[in-house]
Amino acid sequence: MGFSFFLPLFLFRGKNYSCNICGFHAREFLSRGHNYPIIQELSIIGAGKRKVDCPKCGSSDRDRLMFEYFKSNFTAEQLVGKKMLHVAPEKALSRKLASEFQLDIVKIDLRTQGYLFAYDKSVIHGNVMNLPFESNFFDFIICNHVLEHVENVATALSEIHRTLKSGGTTITQVPMSVKIPQTIEGQKHWEAKDRIKHLGQFDHLRLFGADFKEHLKRANLLPSYWTMNNLQLKEKLKLGSDEFVIASKKH
Ligand SMILES: [Zn+2]
Repeated sequence: MGFSFFLPLFLFRGKNYSCNICGFHAREFLSRGHNYPIIQELSIIGAGKRKVDCPKCGSSDRDRLMFEYFKSNFTAEQLVGKKMLHVAPEKALSRKLASEFQLDIVKIDLRTQGYLFAYDKSVIHGNVMNLPFESNFFDFIICNHVLEHVENVATALSEIHRTLKSGGTTITQVPMSVKIPQTIEGQKHWEAKDRIKHLGQFDHLRLFGADFKEHLKRANLLPSYWTMNNLQLKEKLKLGSDEFVIASKKH
């Protein structure tokens, strides 16, 4: 992501796919992810090696799915001027949501080593387990692929619940397998290779299972799963994976 200036874009130009974030028409997208055995074995959603990154804006299949979710589920009036918190913000998606829907977006990240390069100064330092915001503040909170990294999921979700307005929506994508009923918590002493073997990534603390909904419900967030019905568009945007949007309402 973010290396697009170095790519000779004409090599990727074509008619096979298009990017709903930047409008690029592509013959092929760029590769991302890894093919670790556990990912295939458990059909982990939101992981695995696949050619889905836009060579122009760096958006992933998840970013493009997210944009379609907002387009399909909200009217312009429901979004304009609304306050959104974007945790560990995907750059191209954040920019697009702000420009397309005029959302007022606050971006935070822990800014841990290894992820530093991805962010500019508009991303403030903050921890999702102790959000530096007052209660009932945001209409939307996007927190994608973060909860598998945090020390305590319940604490992070209670902070999301606290800072979300009543009736507000949070989107919390995580790598998960519906083949396992219970979330697998990593052992403290596990090294990177153990985490890759059992959880699918070197720095993950857990692998969510079919019980992910229960985590949300326990935090008084009401989850629903959304997926795209327009299969032609899905193919065009190269949303080949089985990922669905996990959107929860605070009630
Ligand atoms: Zn793009």
